[in-house]
Amino acid sequence: ETPKTKYNRVMLKISGEALMGDQGFGLHPPTVQRIAQEVKSVHDLGVEICMVIGGGNIFRGLSGSAQGMERTTADYMGMLATVMNALGMQSALEEIGVFTRVISAIRMDEVCEPYIRRRAVRHLEKKRVCIFAAGTGNPYFTTDTAATLRANEMACEAIFMGKNGVDGVYDKDPKIHEDAVRYDAVTYDDVLTKRLRVMDASAIALARDNNLPLIVFGLDEPGGFRGILAGEGTYTKVQ
Ligand code: UDP
Repeated sequence: ETPKTKYNRVMLKISGEALMGDQGFGLHPPTVQRIAQEVKSVHDLGVEICMVIGGGNIFRGLSGSAQGMERTTADYMGMLATVMNALGMQSALEEIGVFTRVISAIRMDEVCEPYIRRRAVRHLEKKRVCIFAAGTGNPYFTTDTAATLRANEMACEAIFMGKNGVDGVYDKDPKIHEDAVRYDAVTYDDVLTKRLRVMDASAIALARDNNLPLIVFGLDEPGGFRGILAGEGTYTKVQ
């Protein structure tokens, strides 16, 4: 049975940590391959897929600057980390027959394509998965903001935030509090005023101002991403 989905074009945002498995650092190839399978199963439905992968499994600007590095330099290192993750994901996707382009906000033409909006749209129309790397290309931003920006530019219908260890947005941290309750739906303003941990405030504001829904779901369940696109499983919708 092929599940039906109302989505034609989506953004999948995952953190860099989603790729590290139990290693605590870097890329864990079997984990990257598992996520690539999740992406393929949605691609097989004919959905056009954009991806943004964080860099926190390798380097985060804030932790670098906390240890005395110059902040903007540390942020550039974080952006470069996202390019490594994007290349790892590209390799895993192409291994299973999904054509993929890595598109970087910072030019590195020998490694991947530069970001040219109309060209990226064309790749999507040709059913190539587009992995947007190097964040927004600017320090002081995060890959959540990059995912929201590119989702707007690519006219994605929603951002799917794949999380590890949680299946949505809770009123308090479910890893610490047994009585934490998952929301089915919240507004962007709830997220901002209650300081719910979904995305950083600038990313939430950018989504809110452009009416871009966010769907927060768990990445751990095999088939989860495909199920969520068909409206199955548990998740929290932010809109
Ligand atoms: N980063 C940045 N500008 C951007 C996106 C990312 O400077 O537009 C840097 C920032 O230092 C950040 C790092 O890249 O800490 C990795 O991204 P992020 O922390 O969003 O990764 P995640 O937490 O999703 O793994």
